[in-house]
Amino acid sequence: MELIAQLQQELRTLDERSLTRRRRIVETPCGPRVNVDGRELLAFCANDYLGLAAHPRLVAALQEGAARYGVGSGASHLISGHSRAHADLEERLAEFVGPNLESARALYFCTGYMANLAVLTGLCAADKDAEIFSEELNHASLIDGARLARVKVGVYPHADLEALAALLAASAARTKIVVTDSVFSMDGNLAPLPALLALCERHGAWLVVDDAHGFGTLGAHGRGALEHFDLRSPHLVYMGTLSKAAGVGGAFVAAHASVIETLIQKARPYIYTTAAAPALAHALLTSIDLIAGAEGAARRAQLRALIAQLGTGLRLERWRRLPSATAIQPILLGANDETMRAGAALFERGLWVGTIRPPTVPPGTARLRVTLSAAHTGAEVAQLITALNALERT
Ligand SMILES: *Cc1c(COP(=O)(O)O)cnc(C)c1O
Repeated sequence: MELIAQLQQELRTLDERSLTRRRRIVETPCGPRVNVDGRELLAFCANDYLGLAAHPRLVAALQEGAARYGVGSGASHLISGHSRAHADLEERLAEFVGPNLESARALYFCTGYMANLAVLTGLCAADKDAEIFSEELNHASLIDGARLARVKVGVYPHADLEALAALLAASAARTKIVVTDSVFSMDGNLAPLPALLALCERHGAWLVVDDAHGFGTLGAHGRGALEHFDLRSPHLVYMGTLSKAAGVGGAFVAAHASVIETLIQKARPYIYTTAAAPALAHALLTSIDLIAGAEGAARRAQLRALIAQLGTGLRLERWRRLPSATAIQPILLGANDETMRAGAALFERGLWVGTIRPPTVPPGTARLRVTLSAAHTGAEVAQLITALNALERT
């Protein structure tokens, strides 16, 4: 009983600090209007930035993929799980993001979390004296990947190029790997990628870019942060997720062919797991077509309009909207309990907004995390603005 009591004590402590997390059961497809715990809500918390997660063409493509390939892959990629659908998707992705890389190949993963573990462990597998330079606000999967790589890790303060330059200059490692989110997932701002790449080129370092929130939403063609900043280098290692703007699931790494071959040969999170269902890869081919085509461009324009609407409509005094030009629009409250109360009050009004607390963000910086989608209407965003402006004053 003592072991159980110990866990119960720990859970009580979380509760006392307003840190208990709960899951809500969603009965309907991902979209602005959802049925949750028996209630109809307007949701501003999904990462379905282009509104593709329930797109009829993607639903049809997944059904077609299941009819053609079945529902399971049966094995890892290196045994017998690598299907025609996976191969076609990788070729399409390499072609899509290729203009911003050199001699690019792409590799599809079950999740972005695993892709990040694979990149960092894989690049370090060949050199145990490698060194990783990690941005302070990086996603948990990059932090875990750096830990798993079992090499020296230096953390540089948020967007602090001078501190990073000093770390790079002091390093004697032959393999240097700088790793950063492109769009910071809890803040919504962009990393200074052009300056980071210039610094990496000067120090002979790789630049690993996690574009989970940029792929599909940034750049004229939706190719992401590298297109947005017009960057190109053989030393870029690009990770994009296919679960957010692309609306399906999984992720990919695109980089020079030698990097991709290294991951296939060395990266344990790639090698020792069953390949994702081929039907998902099949559906993703349609997703890339949607992102790259006229519909994707129109959806990105709608998203930009909604972001601007929220920015001009909010009239906050005590709370602070963080300066973000992306679909991630955080509102900083600070205290955990006030943030939870605000989230609950919005919920009562039929609005579902994510509440983010430590350890996801630093202590004292709890926030509401509004995420916008091209599937929202201007009227729906106006409803959110009215509710937030009114709530802050109560
Ligand atoms: C969501 C996310 C991931 C993980 O991707 P999944 O496909 O959800 O596993 C990685 N990095 C960042 C910055 C993310 O936001």
